Amino acid sequence: MRVVVALGGNALDGKTRQGVYAAQVRNALAASRQILEIVKAGHQVVLTHGNGPQVGNLALQQELSAADVPPQPLHVLDSMTQGQIGYLLQREIGNALKECSIARPVVSVVTQVLVDAKDGAFGDPTKPIGPFYDQGTAKRLAKERGYVIRRVKPRGARAFRRVVPSPEPIGIVEAGAISTLVRSGAIVVASGGGGVPVVPDRRGRLRGVDAVVDKDLAAEKLAEAVDADALLILTDVEKVKLSYGKPGERGIDRMTATEARRHAGEGHFPAGSMGPKVLACVRFVERGGALGVIASFRKGAEALEGGSGTRITADPTPREKGRKEPG
Ligand code: ADP
Ligand code: MG
Repeated sequence: MRVVVALGGNALDGKTRQGVYAAQVRNALAASRQILEIVKAGHQVVLTHGNGPQVGNLALQQELSAADVPPQPLHVLDSMTQGQIGYLLQREIGNALKECSIARPVVSVVTQVLVDAKDGAFGDPTKPIGPFYDQGTAKRLAKERGYVIRRVKPRGARAFRRVVPSPEPIGIVEAGAISTLVRSGAIVVASGGGGVPVVPDRRGRLRGVDAVVDKDLAAEKLAEAVDADALLILTDVEKVKLSYGKPGERGIDRMTATEARRHAGEGHFPAGSMGPKVLACVRFVERGGALGVIASFRKGAEALEGGSGTRITADPTPREKGRKEPG
């Protein structure tokens, strides 16, 4: 199978000691173990990853050093985190393969993702990034840098954060090159942080825009682009849950696209976290992909074989419905 594996920013950065180099290496090492297992099982792997914590730190660094070094726009920071995280994954996956005498190149592709300049998200930024600010700083930054700042916590001194648009990904600019690399036997890291969002002008020339594309929705686009059989989204929970964090919480082993849409409609999957993962899997199977899986980043290989996680498949066709479900 050809599998697109999406690693969560949390899985890469951890919820403690955020941004510390050694912690990121440890997490890249943990991820590399899973990728190794998937490769050993005979699958082709395209890997993508989030960048929330990393791009937030980088944005803060820009602000702190603005007097000495000119701050770069957000789309440039997006590209920088693709290099940062891609490098660690390349290195650690490369080391893991070498230990097992598997000769496979691992390569990261700086990836641009097309978005629509008319996307409604540009008029309604919702995705919080970077540090939390008090009201005074928030007001100053809004004036000085044109940031859109929103209150993201109901109370507390530092309750404000910059919000940026999160437009829909339309296509992967480097899709052809990524597919060629995968077919050549390489393990490819692509579309990191949801990709660098770009919009074409009338003549088709691209320019970067200050936005952050959702990495799960971009992973789905990537899976379509490389004609993947499976989309495996790895995060820090074992399964998708119904009534998450509430009485009667229960894990879902498998669901069809229609069942997933129904649960989503009932509010089980919040917009900022589980929502886009489920939606990405649903879109993938509705557009012809065989399987979507959401699982723990510690059990990726196992989940792909059906031993863990939540599996999302297309609705059965009328003929299949008459048959007993296999396995
Ligand atoms: P990632 O960095 O992997 O994208 P997110 O924080 O965006 O991680 O999403 C994973 C989180 O979603 C979990 O840590 C969990 O707290 C939360 N979550 C929200 N709703 C659900 C649900 N219905 N089932 C499982 N986890 C959920
Ligand atoms: Mg997320």
